[in-house]
Amino acid sequence: MTQRGYGGPLRYVQGPGVIADLGAYVAPIATSALVVIDAFFWDSLVPSIEKGLAGKGVSSRFVRFGGEATDAEVERCVAEGRASGAGIVIGVGGGKALDTAKIAAFHLDARIATVPTIASTDSPTSSLGVIYTADGVYDHVVRCGRNPDIVLVDSELIIRAPVRFLVSGMGDALSTWYEARSNLESRSNNYIGDGYAATVAGARIARACHDVLMRDGRSALAAARSGRLTPAVENIIEANTLLSGLGFENCGVSAAHGVHDALTALEPTHHFFHGEKVAFGVICLLVLEGRPPEELEEALDFCIDLGLPTTLADLGLKDATEADLASVGELAMKPTNVIHSVPVTLTARSIADSIWTASRLAEERKAGRRC
Ligand SMILES: [Zn+2]
Repeated sequence: MTQRGYGGPLRYVQGPGVIADLGAYVAPIATSALVVIDAFFWDSLVPSIEKGLAGKGVSSRFVRFGGEATDAEVERCVAEGRASGAGIVIGVGGGKALDTAKIAAFHLDARIATVPTIASTDSPTSSLGVIYTADGVYDHVVRCGRNPDIVLVDSELIIRAPVRFLVSGMGDALSTWYEARSNLESRSNNYIGDGYAATVAGARIARACHDVLMRDGRSALAAARSGRLTPAVENIIEANTLLSGLGFENCGVSAAHGVHDALTALEPTHHFFHGEKVAFGVICLLVLEGRPPEELEEALDFCIDLGLPTTLADLGLKDATEADLASVGELAMKPTNVIHSVPVTLTARSIADSIWTASRLAEERKAGRRC
């Protein structure tokens, strides 16, 4: 009998101003908190967070996040947490600050709370943390074994961030359903514990992520561009953060992230956000898996409307050579690459050809829409 597994955060709370409730959620599980906070929010948020926690009887110590999720940064936070006897580590900021907080909590055997200030990553809900070198190069993934106890998403904070973060988050979230389907069809394991088959719940959440993006993505962008909070914006914040986070962890990723990872070998892509590169990876995935034209058109139109990259030129790779594409195909074939969970036979050639074709089809779609 196949074993199935599901995991997620214990509490997820979202809405304008919810950061004021942090103390109420922390107090039942810890009396002392270490807060790892992005430097950008030091002046604006530290006094109110400290007051809010103290009001519920929780003492706090603050660490100004150094900007990169390195082993050294994690060690610094662990030392601060030990010195203050922290029972919970609260991460406030972008994905790297949250990952550092989660990994520090793991080492301290402390509870975890995440307070994201942008909606561009899956980090707030997941049990995984990524470590980089001091130069910002991907190093390794840390499995923290537990998801955060509390995820507090203050949409008032999120809407104040540059809209490119929200759009990039939609690019990442767009991959969730297609990649979940790859894993379901190829019967690959998810990222819960040592890996299980997906539950019905996990699969439905991944599909809901897709449906919310298609329904509300364009409307959310129109509102968010002017800093306005509408139900569509709240739905997209939830899709980018909760639905995408639960969807990828409970079902698995595949070729959109696999192509993304291989493309990072080409320097021009370093100037783009994770979700922007993943969006192009989605188009490549659909071609690689031989999905019907209607699906490709839906994904292409969504990305084009939002301004997400769909061609090699959009990612600064206008001059990419045959040799470049061939090397990306070879890189993607590495046994550790997540691309192997697609339900089709892979070769370096089939990956390179799919990337080229995805870009060409997107160019044709864009040209067709202009006339
Ligand atoms: Zn991603």
